[in-house]
Amino acid sequence: MREEMRTFGYLCPKCGKPVMAARSIFALEASNAEVACSCGETALRAIFDGERYQIYVPCGICGETHMAVCEPERVLRGATALGCAKTKQFCCFIGPEGTVEKNLRELSILAEKEKRQEDEGREAFLDNVIMYEVLSELKDIAARPGGVTCTCGSSRYGMEIRRSSVDLVCRDCGAKLRIPAATDRDLDDLCCHLKLVIPGK
Ligand SMILES: [Zn+2]
Ligand SMILES: [Zn+2]
Ligand SMILES: [Zn+2]
Repeated sequence: MREEMRTFGYLCPKCGKPVMAARSIFALEASNAEVACSCGETALRAIFDGERYQIYVPCGICGETHMAVCEPERVLRGATALGCAKTKQFCCFIGPEGTVEKNLRELSILAEKEKRQEDEGREAFLDNVIMYEVLSELKDIAARPGGVTCTCGSSRYGMEIRRSSVDLVCRDCGAKLRIPAATDRDLDDLCCHLKLVIPGK
């Protein structure tokens, strides 16, 4: 008879790789088990005290290590998932290889997507300090009477904030004035304007 195996899977919080390995039920009942990532930085540990398993999972979602206490039934039969204490998302899967592989792949795609969004969020502006200064200068100019006007006669406008510039858009004729917000020079240029005029129709 082939020995019955259980697969453990988690997402390495250090290198981001999905980590998967199988252990025989015989081995899991006899001693502690460890499943380590190939980067050598993290490892999942299952410690059996004769009654219950304490499972330590390096969490690929929040980066911490979570501990779950599981009945042997849960670890050795069926399929189960352990959740991240912080985000409530599943961060560890135990069960038949196919099930673990499928869930782990989904988790890895999700984590990648979240990371990408984080990166994009962080780099929303070419230079955060300059953008902040430009926006506060624009606020000062706009606060002056007739600070922002359009040559069409309107003084109603909207603001579109981009990565390295701010567009002032006339609400009446749709004309645009682009204020660059990427360098110190841009900031200096803006500061010499008491008023801004959108070149309208
Ligand atoms: Zn790793
Ligand atoms: Zn977590
Ligand atoms: Zn206008």
